[in-house]
Amino acid sequence: MDLTDIQKTYRSRRNRQIIIGLLALLGFAAMLYINVYPQAMAPLKPLQVVLLVLVLEAGMLIASLLNWRCPNCNKHLGRGWNPKACPKCGVELR
Ligand SMILES: [Zn+2]
Repeated sequence: MDLTDIQKTYRSRRNRQIIIGLLALLGFAAMLYINVYPQAMAPLKPLQVVLLVLVLEAGMLIASLLNWRCPNCNKHLGRGWNPKACPKCGVELR
């Protein structure tokens, strides 16, 4: 894989990562909302909604861990949301 391919793959992974992050935020917002308006998701009980959201959040976390990898060395890219280079192998990502 040449550098252009690596950077193209990195861009699509970063976009996916942003979508995963937004969905995770939405899940937390739903939890806050159900806290304030327990009847909002009736007939589901608030606890059922919270459990559902927790399962979804766990799924987002796993999706993020699997997605957020260097296209070159396949190691996890760490906590930054837009690194300039891979912290492991040093390939330029953008
Ligand atoms: Zn790397």
